[in-house]
Amino acid sequence: MSRKTLARPKHIPQRMCIGCREALAKRALVRVARTPDGVKIDPTGKAPGRGAYVHDRRSCWEAALRGPLEGALKTQFTPSERATLEIHMRSLALEESAESDPEAKAGGAA
Ligand SMILES: [Zn+2]
Repeated sequence: MSRKTLARPKHIPQRMCIGCREALAKRALVRVARTPDGVKIDPTGKAPGRGAYVHDRRSCWEAALRGPLEGALKTQFTPSERATLEIHMRSLALEESAESDPEAKAGGAA
């Protein structure tokens, strides 16, 4: 006798954005890792240490950098770590993210 389980869709691994607390697929998020060398952006998602995820969206970074990100990583950023994260934040488009791949032209217009 097989009985269908109720409302259990296939599980897709998801992570929660520290900024807006929405859960979504990992690829839409940027991992920030607290590695032995300090806190850094972890584009590969493979850095050792505790990690937290933030949407690739500026508003989420702004929210996350107000405190929740430090809480999630159980650390306090040094000024240089914070600067690194802020630089990343500023590199993001203000609202709509232009979904461009990183290989795309990084400003070399003729
Ligand atoms: Zn978010």
